[in-house]
Amino acid sequence: EDAVGGGVGTRIMVYVRLRPMSKKEKESGSRSCVRVVNKRDVYLTEFALETDYLRLKRLRGRHFAFDAAFPDNTAQQEVYNISTAELVEGVLQGKNGSVFCYGATGAGKTHTMLGTVQNPGVMVLALKDLFAKIKKHSRDGDHVVRLSYLEVYNESVRDLLSPGRPLVLREDSKQGIVAAGLTQYQAYTADEVMTLLQRGNLNRTTEPTRINETSSRSHAILQAIAEYKVPQETGMVVRAGKLSLIDLAGSERALATDQRTLRSVEGASINRSLLALSSCINALCEGKKHIPFRNSKLTQLLKDSLGGSCRTAMIANISPSNFSFGETQNTLHWADRAKEI
Ligand code: ADP
Ligand code: MG
Repeated sequence: EDAVGGGVGTRIMVYVRLRPMSKKEKESGSRSCVRVVNKRDVYLTEFALETDYLRLKRLRGRHFAFDAAFPDNTAQQEVYNISTAELVEGVLQGKNGSVFCYGATGAGKTHTMLGTVQNPGVMVLALKDLFAKIKKHSRDGDHVVRLSYLEVYNESVRDLLSPGRPLVLREDSKQGIVAAGLTQYQAYTADEVMTLLQRGNLNRTTEPTRINETSSRSHAILQAIAEYKVPQETGMVVRAGKLSLIDLAGSERALATDQRTLRSVEGASINRSLLALSSCINALCEGKKHIPFRNSKLTQLLKDSLGGSCRTAMIANISPSNFSFGETQNTLHWADRAKEI
């Protein structure tokens, strides 16, 4: 049975993050075609390549407004504070929350989600915050944070903390859909989380031709379940909330789809999970009763973390380069649509 979506208070917060121009882009003569203004407006400017002229003309508006837009000098901590901190607060009140990074390969998704040791991203900052806050909410020591980190690649689910065979998804009456045998790691500090995630990322699928690069078709999902006891009149009760942080596969393949019907135009190269996510978001947008969670592994795994009483944030990552104009335009349109939920 698919879950019923909609409901009051269902709204996706949509953010855009522009990354700085890379050295490589600069050296190959690329110019910026994106501008972020007033912390929420994004302009796609006239510096597009000439070959994009027709597409540019067809485009009705080249201005987009989001819940927030981050210019290319925005610190990781600020991205976290604006996009995710409130969701972490919600998790401590027993509300599920999820944050997605969407965008083309190279647009900055992994930088935003994982970051580096010197410059940790949303995943690490969220856990750090969660550890600090859960201590205040619970009685001393009476809390636990369990982490799982998994990958969806070609519709197979893998445990990134303990790589092995693909995991089978099962419907559990209490927990919803679970990946059978998935590692649940009890974590206590943010430093530990960074090490764990870095190791996990090394287990992400790579294309045989690009051994050192994570496949652009791999989705990585970090889930943190926070449980703690609070005193009530009837005695101690356990509160639990789940935070899901998702580094999505590259969206460039979605270009090969009809955005209105989300039907595959070019079959073979389509990422089923990414399409299914778009369909679910569209269905939520339109206030449909039936949300097609069952269409992919990703959406099955996130069934309890999208829509309903769950809080969701989407960070659309974009490159400033005119070489990426088409992808940026596509990402902005996608994000603009998600905003309507
Ligand atoms: P994606 O995961 O979307 O494919 P990455 O996060 O790997 O993209 O980013 C591509 C490159 O750009 C990486 O070298 C990354 O370090 C760099 N980068 C991305 N976003 C930023 C940013 N906000 N500031 C500085 N460098 C960034
Ligand atoms: Mg990446």
